Amino acid sequence: MTMTFETYRDVIEDREYPTVREWRDRTGGKVIGCFPVYAPVEVPYALGMLPIGLFGGGNRIEIANADSRFQSFICSIVKSTLELGFIGKLDVLDGLMFHSICDPARNLASVMGRNFPQRPAVFVHLPQNFQSPQAPQYMAGELRRVAQELSAIAGRPVRDADLAAAIAAYDRVRELQRQLYALRSSSPERISTSELYTLSRLATLMDPKEVAPIFEAALAGAIKRTERPKDRIRVVLAGSFCEQPPLELIESLEQAGCYIVDDDFLLGWRSQRHPVKTDGDPFLALAEAYVNDSHHLSPKHDLRKPRAQGLIETARANRADAVIFLGAKFCEPGLFDYALYRKALEASSIPHLMLEFEEKMWLYDRIRSEVETFVESMLFAEAKAS
Ligand code: SF4
Repeated sequence: MTMTFETYRDVIEDREYPTVREWRDRTGGKVIGCFPVYAPVEVPYALGMLPIGLFGGGNRIEIANADSRFQSFICSIVKSTLELGFIGKLDVLDGLMFHSICDPARNLASVMGRNFPQRPAVFVHLPQNFQSPQAPQYMAGELRRVAQELSAIAGRPVRDADLAAAIAAYDRVRELQRQLYALRSSSPERISTSELYTLSRLATLMDPKEVAPIFEAALAGAIKRTERPKDRIRVVLAGSFCEQPPLELIESLEQAGCYIVDDDFLLGWRSQRHPVKTDGDPFLALAEAYVNDSHHLSPKHDLRKPRAQGLIETARANRADAVIFLGAKFCEPGLFDYALYRKALEASSIPHLMLEFEEKMWLYDRIRSEVETFVESMLFAEAKAS
């Protein structure tokens, strides 16, 4: 794994999308760019297309054109994704898929459609009332409508059997991700979060059938590792479900003394907690999985269970010493939730730290020393108590 890890890292940082271009040249298939968080990637995949994650420009591009289309108080991922369109980096895509996670994402879909009419933008209206027994039926109908729109790009109709096969392909990757996450939680010295993140990000840029063997090899390699555990605190990270922090920032948190034992990076791509049932209508199965079995993130307004309670349960299940909220600047859904998380963490006596990031940041010294101070204070308190 160590031999190829650097290559994977280069791939995920490269906005020429080398794995996508290679897939396109090899298969002649169409590519759909999917904005986070909960894109139903199985639908374009069932049509023979490659759905890829549109996670903005990272810290590799300058925003020169997109600033004039959005207000200054909008998160970076929205602007940098648009900028990728202006500088031709999205030419590899035949279409785009957005969904109703927040107002900036909704606006981005319209702005993209207006500026790049040659590249159709499909919009998925996710259910908003999770207490309604009709929510899965509504969403299944919406997924069928989306499949029809995508069919026009793919040049073929969707068949239930193809959707069931697509669900199975993504289920396999998600199962391996669950195993990798479980391994990191039980033995965080065996696989670092920057490695796990790189693998997860790679999965958003490749055919799931080609990703699965990479994950299997990574899992087998990590299980065999015999690293000694370091003197670090166990941390659950929350808040980075849409815009992604730079990989260097994730590494800085680890170097500052954290074993990250759970996180919500790219969680929409591994959203389902269990395999999706595919013995009936696959559209309904996918809808049921989103409504009743997907991870509960800030853009999903599910009132059946408070998200703060979920965070406390995650922290306890992973034996976390602390929670770090790593939120994207100007991400309203995430930052609104932080107020509730904070209250719940204080009530549960779980130490926590709030950090804000922007995808285009370059300097990590301030955040690193803030985390080092936090970690040292916790290790000191622990030593004093024992
Ligand atoms: S980072 Fe937050 S505000 Fe920005 S598009 Fe994503 S969910 Fe919406």
